[in-house]
Amino acid sequence: METMRQVVVTSTEDIRVEEVPRPGPPGEGEVLVASTLVGICGTDVHAAAGHHPFIDRPYRPGHEVVGVVEQVGPGVADLAAGDHVVLEPNLACGHCRQCRNGRYNICRNLAVFGCQTAGGMADAFVVPRHRLHRLPAGMSDELAALVEPLATPVHAVRRAGVGPGSRVAVLGAGPIGLLVLVAARHAGAEVVVVTDVLSEKRERAARLGADAALAADDPGMVARAAEVLRGPADVVFDCVARESSMAQAIDLVDKGGTVMVVGIAAGPIPVPLHLVQDREISVIGSLMYVREDVEEAIALLAAGAVEATDLVTATFPLDRAAEAFAASSDPQQVKVLVAVGRPS
Ligand SMILES: [Zn+2]
Ligand SMILES: [Zn+2]
Repeated sequence: METMRQVVVTSTEDIRVEEVPRPGPPGEGEVLVASTLVGICGTDVHAAAGHHPFIDRPYRPGHEVVGVVEQVGPGVADLAAGDHVVLEPNLACGHCRQCRNGRYNICRNLAVFGCQTAGGMADAFVVPRHRLHRLPAGMSDELAALVEPLATPVHAVRRAGVGPGSRVAVLGAGPIGLLVLVAARHAGAEVVVVTDVLSEKRERAARLGADAALAADDPGMVARAAEVLRGPADVVFDCVARESSMAQAIDLVDKGGTVMVVGIAAGPIPVPLHLVQDREISVIGSLMYVREDVEEAIALLAAGAVEATDLVTATFPLDRAAEAFAASSDPQQVKVLVAVGRPS
């Protein structure tokens, strides 16, 4: 039996590469993809530590996957071997009320490839054709590795109603926060303030076009942000999702404004509910994305909205996936990738 490598995460200390049966051939409507680059994100870091509410360990990661089509199954006419693709990892049921309304990112029976099923941090995987997006000619795999991370902010920005003239605050300058900045700019936001506790991340936010990048733990932050925003924010994106960031979000947002929760909270978080009521603040959540968000993320990257080097701070070969996970939990890192490819 032909085998391949696949990463298995049991705990932060136990991340190994296993030999497992190689999948394929692809069935009707399916595609066999050889992974090239796989991103690690906050979801993976939380999951490895056992802190993700919806991922059980051990798990086989890889939901941010770029690859090359190796073989297409019967009935797949619009992809061919050699095409570069990016995975859209949400596996929706297609028949629940949310799916029927086009909101399949919150499918009642949602599973995520690489979270609740074996993922793409492996030599190859098989998925239905409709879970893949073909990459534009000339887009590097490194840049394509940002498609999935950018799709989440594109969705959150759209859902929050950011548009021309919007005044926006983004709490947290990790990959999601930085890409919320990029997506908000492209949606027409007039002024964007970003906060983070780490100076390196603030500098990165400034390089990516933040009007101000402020220290999140500075007691004068809210006042300074209001100066730059010339008043309270129309929308605040909480990419941290802790009690302190939620309190700041409520302080920063205008009456009638929106606090968009993008970060993954570790559990129940207190919210200043008296102010939510008194100021008619909308506190809403955002999960993943749908097809149009992924398509917009691809278009934004193809148009040069951001470079791979703006976010990717380290790349490790598959056999060193454990080191890649360790690097991902280092707050100095932004986006960490795992490069798949047979060791020579
Ligand atoms: Zn992710
Ligand atoms: Zn569904």
